[in-house]
Amino acid sequence: MAVRIDGKALAAQVKEQVRREVETLSRQPGLAVILVGDNPASQVYVRGKESDCAECGIRSFSHRLPAQTSQKELLELVEQLNQDAAVDGILCQLPLPEGLNEDQVIHAIAPDKDVDCFHPFNVGQMSIGAPTFLPCTPAGVMEMLRAYEIPVAGKRCVVLGRSNIVGKPMAMLLTQADGTVTVCHSRTPDLAALTREADILVVAVGRVGLVTADMVRPGAVVIDVAMNRNADGKLCGDVVFDEVEAKASYITPVPGGVGPMTRAMLMRNILTAARNHGA
Ligand code: NAP
Repeated sequence: MAVRIDGKALAAQVKEQVRREVETLSRQPGLAVILVGDNPASQVYVRGKESDCAECGIRSFSHRLPAQTSQKELLELVEQLNQDAAVDGILCQLPLPEGLNEDQVIHAIAPDKDVDCFHPFNVGQMSIGAPTFLPCTPAGVMEMLRAYEIPVAGKRCVVLGRSNIVGKPMAMLLTQADGTVTVCHSRTPDLAALTREADILVVAVGRVGLVTADMVRPGAVVIDVAMNRNADGKLCGDVVFDEVEAKASYITPVPGGVGPMTRAMLMRNILTAARNHGA
């Protein structure tokens, strides 16, 4: 039976460490949170991030904008926040409503305030191994592996999913930790043959029930990044938890696994930004 990786407990430790370090700064760090429209899931995510900030002693500045906001208005707000010395990090919650250009917004955020690590400058810095910020979800996964003393060097790692936010940077960080990494996606034939080779399997697709026990090598480490709702409306990942738990050595639950770690790593990035801004 696998050890359940307790993302919630670990995230609490990371946030406590951030809180203590924030206390040593010359001023309070600040996060500006932009939420456009009324996507219910985005509202939940944003409230979570704001409450994390409060826990860590970080100020949050909320910018709730109507769905009809124009691209120009949104870019003007980003520019104003780029100039605001009280703002160390800028987070624009995605997805944006139809008609708004996400890439333009990501590019407009000053790289030194890009605490999501989505700006091409920061993605480039990360990919050459000289990061200012690390992308929150993959960094949270790496932190879990470290905390549970799961070695990556020399291990076969398989990442399911190749999004810019999760799959690609995850593969990059595992490679930098000396794993041998295979990235799979919707056009990968015979997924199971590849996943069965994995010592460490990271799943970030968004499809309930995608990973079954027959796809997992006995003793593998299984990290489930996905956040789905099953037919009963319950939060779940991509991994069929009960059967894979019986076969893996470590597994992350959903909820209570990668999600809280993602939020905690955001707090760490805000602390880094504040330090870099001389706080
Ligand atoms: P995304 O942008 O939709 O990417 C999904 C990836 O899965 C794509 O690369 C896609 O391939 C691939 N894929 C689709 N069907 C597949 C299949 N049958 N076999 C193998 N690969 C397949 O999603 P994302 O933003 O990376 O998010 C992935 C999941 O993680 C979602 O459930 C999301 O809610 C969750 N998430 C969780 C956190 C957290 O903090 N826990 C953070 C971010 C995301 P193609 O590239 O070929 O289309």
